[in-house]
Amino acid sequence: MPANFAFDNSYARDLPGLYVAWPPAAVPAPELLFLNRELAQELGLDAAALDGPEGAALFAGNRVPEGAAPLAQAYAGHQFGGFSPQLGDGRALLLGEVIDRAGRRRDIAFKGSGRTPFSRGGDGKAAVGPMLREVLVGEAMHALGIPTTRALAVAATGEPVLRESGPLPGAVLTRVAASHLRVGTFQFFAARGELDRLRQLAEYAIARHDPALAGAPDRHLALLRAVARRQASLVAQWMNVGFIHGVMNTDNMTISGETIDYGPCAFMEATDPGAVFSSIDHGGRYAYGNQPQIARWNLARLAETLLPLMADGDDEAAVQQAVAQVTEVIDAFPALYRAALLQGQRAKLGLQRGGDDAADESLAADWLALLHAHGVDFTLSWRRLADAAAGDEAALRALFAADAKAPDDWLARWRARCAAEDDHADAAAAGAQRAARMRAVNPLVIPRNLRVEEALAAASAGDLAPFERLLAALRRPFDDLPGHAAYAEPAPAQAMASYQTFCGT
Ligand code: AMP
Ligand code: MG
Repeated sequence: MPANFAFDNSYARDLPGLYVAWPPAAVPAPELLFLNRELAQELGLDAAALDGPEGAALFAGNRVPEGAAPLAQAYAGHQFGGFSPQLGDGRALLLGEVIDRAGRRRDIAFKGSGRTPFSRGGDGKAAVGPMLREVLVGEAMHALGIPTTRALAVAATGEPVLRESGPLPGAVLTRVAASHLRVGTFQFFAARGELDRLRQLAEYAIARHDPALAGAPDRHLALLRAVARRQASLVAQWMNVGFIHGVMNTDNMTISGETIDYGPCAFMEATDPGAVFSSIDHGGRYAYGNQPQIARWNLARLAETLLPLMADGDDEAAVQQAVAQVTEVIDAFPALYRAALLQGQRAKLGLQRGGDDAADESLAADWLALLHAHGVDFTLSWRRLADAAAGDEAALRALFAADAKAPDDWLARWRARCAAEDDHADAAAAGAQRAARMRAVNPLVIPRNLRVEEALAAASAGDLAPFERLLAALRRPFDDLPGHAAYAEPAPAQAMASYQTFCGT
């Protein structure tokens, strides 16, 4: 296996005008902090050959690998609802694409590799802590089975970056993605009225993510539908693990349906639809419970960019028809989302058979309302519900500290719903099987915010051991392993009340 990437750079080749060719900045003292061996293998790389000074130089940006064509991508975006016509890769670069061992085309990109023509006032740099956060949360999402971009490597640069809190150690992240096409990429060319480039972009996105649609007369509408389906499924999976993205701007919503940009993200602890941890989200726009609506709003922005491709602006009737068609897709999004959510909730509840959708939706909604009313830890509650399926309710009741009887009525409904689909004569065996199914979909270990902060603080001070231990635990989220108990514990309530994550650091 080669140490080098077998690049095949379709974005650079097929989309002139959608980027600026740009090299990474050289840095003084590269040091490899993290290498994702499993992902390196997937990409056909020789991990052993990358795990030394050669890899450090490569992943810090000092040695541009053979075949790479580094470039900064152009994109726009609605940030917190306000439109910025030009964002673009201000501190990121696409190095190129690799066809992985499973035949999938993957982007290899840097983040924190220096200023580009899109940097505006920014320094183009990134700090060790936030880049290692991308590793932890991305790998956790991957282990949870949720589509995500992934970190291949993090290299320290040996150069301080200046942030509000003072100087921090600098780092470059190497990120792997199905693509970096975003809603904001479409918005960039739509806003400038560059229809030819917009059309090229749409053809490219279809060829890359929905090749079955290529050449179809209604392919732009079908692309919108496909993105809606992927995003409905993605956001439903976020909701079912308590994930709060924190900055669902249209430039952070992918066409591929992967989660991207782990900045001010967090996992909810005490169940609360209003949970928001981002220091920049003053209005709570991207609060936990708002995420499905925001996804729909972002899709509507994508739909607007596709209209000029669907209908000639001078043909009033054609425009009207295109508007009606995209509106139908946007209006159908909540139902798509609810179906995806319910499918996940049924699995979380240990249910195997579809039943009365409305009844199951309200069973799940009432459970969540109960958890909210009592401030119960989202993640633990599902695990303890699995224990209850196996016959042990004590641990679940203990979560309702003030009122151990609070879940009684709901538990009775759930048990009746479970019994209705168990054709097992042996109730204990059915319960044990249900508990095992539930434990396979309800994680015990998630990246709890204070654990993440602890690990990042130690790493920034030069001690990677806590980061590595946490990462190892996050890679086995469903397993109740002896060393993992500390990672499963909720943070003290007062610590979470003041906890914030920061963006753009
Ligand atoms: P994000 O919030 O990370 O999705 O970034 C939004 C925009 O800000 C993107 O165009 C980034 O490239 C840009 N950006 C964020 N941080 C920096 C930085 N330190 N220097 C330059 N541009 C940045
Ligand atoms: Mg971004």
